[in-house]
Amino acid sequence: MLKVNEIFYSIQGESTHAGLPCVFVRLTYCNLRCVYCDTEYAFYEGKDMEIEEIISEVGKFDCKLVEITGGEPLMQEEVHTLMKSLCDMGYELMIETGGSLPIQNIDKRVKVIMDIKTPFSKMEKKNRYENFEHLKTTDEVKFVIGSREDYDWSKKIIEKYELTKKVKQVLFSPVFDQIENIQLAEWILEDRLNVRFQLQMHKYIWHPETRGV
Ligand code: SF4
Repeated sequence: MLKVNEIFYSIQGESTHAGLPCVFVRLTYCNLRCVYCDTEYAFYEGKDMEIEEIISEVGKFDCKLVEITGGEPLMQEEVHTLMKSLCDMGYELMIETGGSLPIQNIDKRVKVIMDIKTPFSKMEKKNRYENFEHLKTTDEVKFVIGSREDYDWSKKIIEKYELTKKVKQVLFSPVFDQIENIQLAEWILEDRLNVRFQLQMHKYIWHPETRGV
């Protein structure tokens, strides 16, 4: 049994899969409180669903790309059973995690999109740096950047942990409505940084506050 906030079909807005149709399974609960959080409704709201029920809902969309997200999806232990079942069924599975909980038990077939919380988020102390040892070459790490301080901090972390060598992609995302997109893009170009600049595409397709997209 898992507490599920919502299951919906939309365009993947982030990561190297941005732009592709994707089924999202948003699980309830989060152990963090990032200042820019746009899914606070997932902290408590949700309904209990059996694994089979979730799989049946996902199947209705006839889409092989699935992302498990939250809140923090790793807060519920049974997420591992769900991930294993979906992988066994041949789904291409991604999980988006805030990076504060252990990732080593995640099925190796799952692509992990792991946030690294920057100073602006006010959750920097919660980063679990041991997780870096368990990242795979199919995984991606994401920095959500709200200031120049965040940008410089992120560069240092990438260098220190050699992240661009460890994972498929390092992602830099501006905090929506906090810094100018062009500003972040220019910093990346000035420094010749080997990262992918990304916008939360769904916030440009739909109204930024629209839920279930
Ligand atoms: S980890 Fe994600 S869901 Fe949790 S508070 Fe931060 S932004 Fe919100």
